[in-house]
Amino acid sequence: MTAFVESKERRELREAVARLGQKYGEAYFYAAAREGRKTTELWQEAAALGYLGVSIPEQYGGGGGDIGDLAAVLEELATAGCPLLLMVVSPAIVGTVIALFGSEEQKQRWLPGLASGTATYVFGITEPDAGSNTHQIATQARRDGDDWILSGSKTYISGVDEASHVLVVARVGKRPSLFMVPVDAPGFTHQKIDMGLVAPEDQFTLFFDDVRLPADALIGSEEAGFDQLFAGLNPERIMAASSATGMARWALRKAVAYAGERQVWGVPIGAHQAISHPLAKLHVEIEAARLLTQKAAALHAAGELKAAGEAANMAKYAAGEAVCAAVDQAIQTHGGNGLANEYGLVQALATSRLTRMAPVSREMALNFVAQFSLGLPRSY
Ligand SMILES: Cc1cc2nc3c(=O)[nH]c(=O)nc-3n(C[C@H](O)[C@H](O)[C@H](O)COP(=O)(O)OP(=O)(O)OC[C@H]3O[C@@H](n4cnc5c(N)ncnc54)[C@H](O)[C@@H]3O)c2cc1C
Repeated sequence: MTAFVESKERRELREAVARLGQKYGEAYFYAAAREGRKTTELWQEAAALGYLGVSIPEQYGGGGGDIGDLAAVLEELATAGCPLLLMVVSPAIVGTVIALFGSEEQKQRWLPGLASGTATYVFGITEPDAGSNTHQIATQARRDGDDWILSGSKTYISGVDEASHVLVVARVGKRPSLFMVPVDAPGFTHQKIDMGLVAPEDQFTLFFDDVRLPADALIGSEEAGFDQLFAGLNPERIMAASSATGMARWALRKAVAYAGERQVWGVPIGAHQAISHPLAKLHVEIEAARLLTQKAAALHAAGELKAAGEAANMAKYAAGEAVCAAVDQAIQTHGGNGLANEYGLVQALATSRLTRMAPVSREMALNFVAQFSLGLPRSY
């Protein structure tokens, strides 16, 4: 029979991570964001407990699980009010790409740090002039003897200030290839972008001015092109969806608690169907997004990358819509209190919009479904 519930081990992992999340919670997360601090304590404790390395193969120090396990960790932390953005890039994208395509030497070099949480690597594909059109990226790597010379720029890259390396997507000839670039490499500079998100992580524009890299900075094959890239992007979408469903559960929980207590006509406001039905609808939508996300993760773990791609796009779309609706409705349920910092919802507004935009926008996710699931022609 097809399983519609996660394994006992996965459920136990969720419970354990939820306990860690509750120890820190939204107060810790948003205080760090407001005060310009990072969530280092939470990151390190999650790493020490093996949660950040749960999907890294055992022979490199990880838990030997799959992307569904890592997604469950992020979802539970987000449900507790701590959506750790760098989990999406460091263990998920970079970890997956290196585990799948790195040479044995590269796996030995890069994966143990991800497994123990002592190393953070971020990911750079977005460019100012290419945007959603990743086929249009202009950053280039050319050979110089055994070395590579990297030139170009990236934008909206998260967490460069917290990372030792950026996994950069650059063209070699016409094909996209992946390079591990040290953040302190001569010729590599970055500039913080002034964002409106209330989040501990920052975004940056990167400039590569003839950055010299050793031969083994190239991860995988320069021939692999988009196939290799998409192997890393499906986990990214699954993780983004998990962060969003977690945040949606967080917002719904706050709304339900408030709706059960607040009285202005002698009964809790949650007794009015104008309040209870939108919350019930959200519960259904969040559960649907979670199921799609779990399906995408299961397909990815089974190596069915094409089907995983379709499910990951659908999951990311559904989760992005669910989290925007959940934060909006939670604010509405709180009345004026919804806009007061004390109630801890208004600061999540911009972040809830993020899943609609990144790592792939709502429109591009729908384009994927229109073209690949429905066979409709493309306009671009
Ligand atoms: C907080 C944050 C963190 C990020 N972190 C990272 C990171 O770590 N690494 C990284 O590489 N990138 C990162 N990004 C970038 C992110 O992936 C891009 O913003 C996203 O892919 C959209 O690209 P764009 O902003 O250039 O929008 P554009 O491509 O300019 O799109 C603008 C609008 O037009 C729509 N549109 C574009 N083309 C089409 C089309 N063919 N059909 C219909 N609609 C279309 C889009 O859906 C969107 O609504 C981050 C972004 C943010 C906001």
